[in-house]
Amino acid sequence: MGVNLSRLKDLFIEINSINDYSFGDGMSRLAYTSQDKTARELFIKRCQEAGLSVRVDAIGNIFARREGSEPNLPAIAFGSHLDTVINGGQFDGILGVLGGLEVIRSLNDENIKTKHSLELIVFECEESSRFNIATLGSKVMCGKLGYEKLKEVKDFRGQEIGEIFGEFGIDIKRIEEAKNLEPNYKSFFEIHIEQGPLLDNEKIQIGVVSAIAAPHRFSVRVIGQPQHSGTTAMKYRNDALCAAAEIILAVEKIAKDNSQNSVVATTGNCSVKPGVMNVVPGETTLLIDLRGINLQTREDAYAQIISHINKIEEKRGVKCEIKQLGFDTPCRLDERLINLIASEAKGLNLSYEIMPSGAGHDAMHIAEICPTGMIFVPSHAGISHNPAEFSSWDDIENGLNLLKSVILKEAE
Ligand SMILES: [Zn+2]
Repeated sequence: MGVNLSRLKDLFIEINSINDYSFGDGMSRLAYTSQDKTARELFIKRCQEAGLSVRVDAIGNIFARREGSEPNLPAIAFGSHLDTVINGGQFDGILGVLGGLEVIRSLNDENIKTKHSLELIVFECEESSRFNIATLGSKVMCGKLGYEKLKEVKDFRGQEIGEIFGEFGIDIKRIEEAKNLEPNYKSFFEIHIEQGPLLDNEKIQIGVVSAIAAPHRFSVRVIGQPQHSGTTAMKYRNDALCAAAEIILAVEKIAKDNSQNSVVATTGNCSVKPGVMNVVPGETTLLIDLRGINLQTREDAYAQIISHINKIEEKRGVKCEIKQLGFDTPCRLDERLINLIASEAKGLNLSYEIMPSGAGHDAMHIAEICPTGMIFVPSHAGISHNPAEFSSWDDIENGLNLLKSVILKEAE
């Protein structure tokens, strides 16, 4: 028997009606807000009604457990997040949480008792929208983030994180109690919308995630010479913006030339000083996001970018200062679980593609503490973090039935 789609839709409507409408269109349920709190309380209530015992850790991650017939065996865990970006969509994150509960409800319908326990996880604060820190809850759980790094953080409105946590019932001094590097899980699964166009374009029903790309982020400050735009002949210029333009195109070309292992690079911002029409630009700063699923390949591309920048410095008589903004390590998901998800998909007659994830997810941290697998369902036109985000209910049903059969395989 499959999951009950109409019951799931009702739960989506119920949770997505909890929203900060003051932001306008779409879903704005930011982490650690009153909307987040209301949604979490309601979700916990629904979990308890389904017979789950609920625990909340010191950073706010929720664990809802369905005891197996041999409770000492490691549990099968699955989950995602309930928080959203500002003006986000109705499926990002919440699919893995509400869908996980629907899988449990459908096991209850069928009176199926698994050997291993099942644990549904809601990771707190997955989106970076509030604090400019993504996957906060899973990072704290995996020991990658603690009190010292977080204590000075403020949200986008300038409110202190300690005060925000306090209002939410979290003591910032005690968050490291959430650290759990040996969670006694046999495996963890996250089902999520793709947030990219591959499955929709290719009309494939399921993405089996092989690896999760991670970014290397840096800024390039190009220092030239600000000069009078009328009196400075072309040959006497050290135009910082023209040099930056060459760098931007080089970044694009190098990413294209290194496209194996899913290397992509984006110059997302360019600021120019003094930024007026009648002065040759004296200074330009670029923000560059370089990603890939293989550390070596990504860093090869980085090295090529830096050597190209050095050539441009020499050629144009400018000076470039590189500042590191972020360096994360790409993660490969568990080979056994990739094969398990693929073979269960085949068993359900679903078309699938083994593919990397360009976006980050809580799963990339959990992968370091237990074997981890991810399932993608198609995103219409690849649109996400946007009110137009859409996945068809047929695709969602297929994805959840796949999750259910994978969990049952693992739990026996
Ligand atoms: Zn998400």
